[in-house]
Amino acid sequence: MIGLKVPKKETNHIRLSLQEKSLLNHDWRIKRSEDYVYLPLNQRPDDKFLKELGLIRADIVDTDFEEHKKRPRSMEDYLNGRIPPEKMDEFKKSFDIIGDVVILEIPDELEDEKYLIGEAALKFTKRKSVYRKKSKIKGIVRTRELEHLAGEDQPVTIHKEYDSHITLDVKKVYFSPRLATERKIVTDQVHDGEIIIDMFAGVGPFSINIARRRKVQIYAVDINPHAVNYLEKNITSNKLKGQIKPTQGDVAEVLKNLNLEVDRIIMNLPGTAYEFLPIAIKHIKPGGTLHYYQFSRDFEDPIKRVKQAAQPRHVKILDKRKVKSRSPGVWHVAIDAKIT
Ligand code: SAM
Repeated sequence: MIGLKVPKKETNHIRLSLQEKSLLNHDWRIKRSEDYVYLPLNQRPDDKFLKELGLIRADIVDTDFEEHKKRPRSMEDYLNGRIPPEKMDEFKKSFDIIGDVVILEIPDELEDEKYLIGEAALKFTKRKSVYRKKSKIKGIVRTRELEHLAGEDQPVTIHKEYDSHITLDVKKVYFSPRLATERKIVTDQVHDGEIIIDMFAGVGPFSINIARRRKVQIYAVDINPHAVNYLEKNITSNKLKGQIKPTQGDVAEVLKNLNLEVDRIIMNLPGTAYEFLPIAIKHIKPGGTLHYYQFSRDFEDPIKRVKQAAQPRHVKILDKRKVKSRSPGVWHVAIDAKIT
């Protein structure tokens, strides 16, 4: 590569002049000998410019420079150059962090680079364990297969969300950190003294966030025994103002045996919550609020389902939100409805 050989004492003003003309190549280190300094160049300067600097053509030399080791600033930066450039577009920069666990999505095209990507995630997120999504979220308990890529194979972690500490096993239960804002929106609507049913409670992020802030009574139900075990743990490890009663089982069965009329019901099972609308309506007080979730392309369909299930009761839609994207054009939507 080409460089300019300049007498040591002249270096400063020549370096500045080269910089001014964008001729100095910053990717390479300046090299020094006893009497000379070698400045790496982007391109050959013309004779007129060399003359102005008091140099001649012979001062342009072909020599080796050492590359600057730039500290990568992001995972993408770090992987650039380590994975083939044509595959770089496949690399998805988004990932979930749950406590000390990172969960990545790596397409099949990057199978050979998965451990490298896992190590990069470990290095840049400074978490303890990295897993790759191996399936979609599936089944009644809404979990997915995970493949361990880097760090410890430790799926049990404590996730912090608005001062709530949620302990969970990422392999055995459903949990999405992307619902944090939604949980805050719901929590902000709750008043002291309310009775609430969290129909699909999981490890309890809605229930815990609410009971930490309000003197309420929450019936938290989940069909997954692992989720209920962590929910019980989370009830004891958080300082709660309210009370949470955890129950394991199919919520349709559990509610049959509970003679309850409540102020608020949370229905966060967006794939099939509509099947449980009639039973939710049955347990909601006149004037009570329903937080209904559904995967949908629009708001009309979930609103229609709530209204149909509530008949002949009156439904007032209080709010509707796109919580997060599920697939192109399909959203996890939230409907807040007052049932009178
Ligand atoms: N609300 C929690 C959260 O925000 O993390 C968990 C939501 S997750 C999408 C749905 C939960 O519903 C899962 O934990 C699953 O085990 C539970 N579930 C599914 N069918 C159920 C049923 N029939 N009765 C009770 N729980 C059920």
